[in-house]
Amino acid sequence: MHTTDITIIGAGLAGLLTANLLQHMAHSPLSITLIEANTSPGGLAQSHPIDSAYPHTRTNMGPHALYLNGPLHRLLRTLRIPTHGKKPTQYPTLIKEDHASFTLPTSLRTLLHNNHLTHHDKLTLSRALIHLSTQSHHHPDSRSAEDLLTSLARQSKRVLNILNILLRTTTYCASPHILQATTAHLQLKRSIRYGVLYLDGGWQSLIDALLARINKNPNISLKTKTKATILESTPTHHILTTQHQERIHTTHLILAIPPHKAAKILPPNTLNLDALTPTKSACIDLLLKPRPHRPTSVYGLSSPFYMSNHSVAAHFHTHPTINTPHHVVHAAKYLPHDDSSSPTQHLQDLQQWLDFITPHWQEDTLAMRKLPTITVMHHTPNILPSPQLLRTPLPPHIHLVGDWYHNHNNILADAVASSTQHTCHTILTHDLHHA
Ligand SMILES: Cc1cc2nc3c(=O)[nH]c(=O)nc-3n(C[C@H](O)[C@H](O)[C@H](O)COP(=O)(O)OP(=O)(O)OC[C@H]3O[C@@H](n4cnc5c(N)ncnc54)[C@H](O)[C@@H]3O)c2cc1C
Repeated sequence: MHTTDITIIGAGLAGLLTANLLQHMAHSPLSITLIEANTSPGGLAQSHPIDSAYPHTRTNMGPHALYLNGPLHRLLRTLRIPTHGKKPTQYPTLIKEDHASFTLPTSLRTLLHNNHLTHHDKLTLSRALIHLSTQSHHHPDSRSAEDLLTSLARQSKRVLNILNILLRTTTYCASPHILQATTAHLQLKRSIRYGVLYLDGGWQSLIDALLARINKNPNISLKTKTKATILESTPTHHILTTQHQERIHTTHLILAIPPHKAAKILPPNTLNLDALTPTKSACIDLLLKPRPHRPTSVYGLSSPFYMSNHSVAAHFHTHPTINTPHHVVHAAKYLPHDDSSSPTQHLQDLQQWLDFITPHWQEDTLAMRKLPTITVMHHTPNILPSPQLLRTPLPPHIHLVGDWYHNHNNILADAVASSTQHTCHTILTHDLHHA
């Protein structure tokens, strides 16, 4: 029997941040056991080579950008985890549809030179962006992102299309009519004011830095290839059984795993998974041979597609002396919340769109990874009537972290960071004193 103060199930970004933050905040050392089902920790934030022929090029699982000054960035700063990378904004972004092709107006210069928009549109768009970046992001719970953007676009379809592109890119959400206006506004405000970073070495650089701290800390033990299966609880402690029949005796338990997996470990009927509205996406990750005049980033105007060459801003090569000879390119189709098409259809749509925007991509492809339907976030703050997530209170000293629990209007990895901070604070200020 292994005995520990706190056990964290799941060593994705949520579990690794939680272990680091608990040690950072605790006044005296805590013994923490972190268990991870996979061989390597990191979950969705891992970046690995997608083809053994290119062992030195790491690729994120789908396009990943760090929102500057968001909860994750701020938490990493608190933990002194470095974030090296570059903003992609200096590279032009094209918007393409059958009969339209123009540069996304991201600056005064690109706005003035834009031939797609009328003078009136340009004024309306400028006003909308100023409003989004300066005004309060708090809206009534029943207001949707669609309501917000429609009112800002003032009946200009062209302006509304551009605002929707910004919304899809920053939230991954292709259903603005259900997304909460507060969440949309907060995310747009952050991206307009501060922008994003593409990280050198991919998001694996964050995972590696968080892991290095854990490996150096004698009070934290990490067990990989260890899946938590059964939980037994007494009034004073929990006993967790792994797939190897190892028993871990713990005072506090934190589940840093996806909701459907947490539901299997918690007592039956604790979680109501119908309360959650996931956001999904179809992605293709590519290593492409460089080709002159290939666009750097392209968005669909009214169609929910994205393609971006992340190598223009970040270095994905693990060998410091070699400049990446090929480009890491991500393409995505943003899926609506009530999507009913097949994964094969999503991939076909995405490939057809790539044929349209960059006709030679197939012959330039050195390696490809297809992620036909991947959950980008397990819960999207929305205006739909939905039941409570917890059918019954959590058993004493059991906690949840993840983008689906106490995300405080944040989304993506910012929701993970926000949830992590909430849970660590609860454990250290309240729970430990009452254990
Ligand atoms: C395509 C895509 C694009 C994204 N883009 C962005 C972006 O641009 N910006 C942004 O901020 N965020 C982005 N995200 C979101 C970000 O990647 C996630 O929020 C974050 O990685 C989730 O971390 P997590 O630890 O909560 O979950 P996970 O990464 O799912 O980790 C859970 C871990 O728990 C382990 N586990 C599960 N069950 C058990 C068990 N029973 N026992 C032991 N271990 C278990 C799993 O193996 C896994 O390692 C994106 C996500 C995707 C998929």
